[in-house]
Amino acid sequence: MRIILFGSPGVGKGTQAKILSSKFNIPHISTGDILRAAVNDKTQLGLKAKEIMDRGELVPDEIMIGIIRDTITNDSCTNGFILDGFPRTVAQAEALDKLMKELNFKDLYLLNITANEDEIIKRLTNRKACKVCNHIFTSAELDGRNTCPNCDSKESFYQRNDDREDVIKRRLEVFNQNTKPVLSYYEKKNKSITIDGLGSVEEVNSKIIKALSL
Ligand code: AMP
Repeated sequence: MRIILFGSPGVGKGTQAKILSSKFNIPHISTGDILRAAVNDKTQLGLKAKEIMDRGELVPDEIMIGIIRDTITNDSCTNGFILDGFPRTVAQAEALDKLMKELNFKDLYLLNITANEDEIIKRLTNRKACKVCNHIFTSAELDGRNTCPNCDSKESFYQRNDDREDVIKRRLEVFNQNTKPVLSYYEKKNKSITIDGLGSVEEVNSKIIKALSL
């Protein structure tokens, strides 16, 4: 199974990708997580990406396409993968198509998760990341817990720099301008499925499973 989880920031792509990844035992590839790891490790990529991410802008296409090429050509991706946060521009979608052809991978579907903008702003301003493992959780997932559901650390949580309200607004603008055309790109190829992202994590997941007819 090869899936692109598509939707605006905060729509729940990461949460759904993690569930699908463990259910079907295929890698979850989050370009945001890859970049945040590089920022943490203070690599050259991380230093460059940090200030772009903190402004809510997009990291240049050629860098992102290189990251995806290195990742999906890995053996661990032979049986499938879930892309979360890529492609975010039509140029990235075209490069992904080219790569799919090179690798002789045929089945790639885009799952478009929708939600309304007010709900998204509320979700993003309320979400928190673990200080130790950097996993991101919605307030519903944390449900008042003080320990990290992912790594059990008792360190506290922090808000991502790009989850501040002013940056969120910019990320949504960038999504509408640069990323939405990616949906039309897959619609034209009849390779897109739209799912209503409103509801609990479990409800949205059931809708996804049903849509994939699995
Ligand atoms: P995310 O965790 O997917 O919301 O990504 C966080 C930030 O990383 C984005 O706001 C962008 O600055 C950057 N980023 C992640 N994926 C991409 C991509 N495919 N193209 C460009 N920038 C990206």
